[in-house]
Amino acid sequence: MNIVLLGSPGVGKGTYAKRISKIYNIPHISTGDMFREAIKNKTEIGLKAKGYMDKGELVPDDVTIKTVEERLKKDDCKNGFMLDGFPRTIAQAEALDKIIVIDKVLNFTASDEVIIDRLSGRRVCKSCGAIFHIRNIIPKTEGVCDNCGGELYQRDDDKPESVKKRLDVYREQTEPLIEYYKEKELLADIDANKPIEQVDEIIADVRKALEE
Ligand code: ADP
Ligand code: ZN
Repeated sequence: MNIVLLGSPGVGKGTYAKRISKIYNIPHISTGDMFREAIKNKTEIGLKAKGYMDKGELVPDDVTIKTVEERLKKDDCKNGFMLDGFPRTIAQAEALDKIIVIDKVLNFTASDEVIIDRLSGRRVCKSCGAIFHIRNIIPKTEGVCDNCGGELYQRDDDKPESVKKRLDVYREQTEPLIEYYKEKELLADIDANKPIEQVDEIIADVRKALEE
């Protein structure tokens, strides 16, 4: 199954994606993670992406589309995949439609209050990418990843100045995709307002949407 995840920054897409990817045994493809990896490795794409990301702006479509197109050619995508953070513009969605058929689009929704709380408290493992939260998903030892012992950090773009910019960019450039996929009858809304203790219920809603 070829799945696209939609939803505001901070809605929890990455957390749900990791779970869904295990359940359906399909790769979780996060363009944000791919760019962060490229920046860490100082690749050409990383150098191009860094300035935009730090400011909370979108990386240009041509770079992003090429990155995803290459990734989807890999063997592990043959039986399906889950795209997290792509497409983020209408141009990206149109490019994706030319590359492959999408079966379902999950649109995660939450209130502004919930979103800002999730973004401002998020901490990420430098080594394995696991996601924590200073109040809601508290690691056993402060600043240390439960999974691998790696160091937890706050993403530069989770700082207040960039958060506001990202939410504006989302409203202007990404939200129109909801209509785009609704018209294609691919969209399923998933209520993601529930606290993290109820993440199992969110995942159950996802399974229902994917299996109907
Ligand atoms: P979030 O969804 O929490 O904003 P991501 O990790 O998905 O975080 O993305 C972080 C940043 O990476 C974005 O703010 C943007 O700069 C860049 N990025 C990720 N995906 C795309 C995309 N599809 N198009 C353009 N830029 C992207
Ligand atoms: Zn870790």
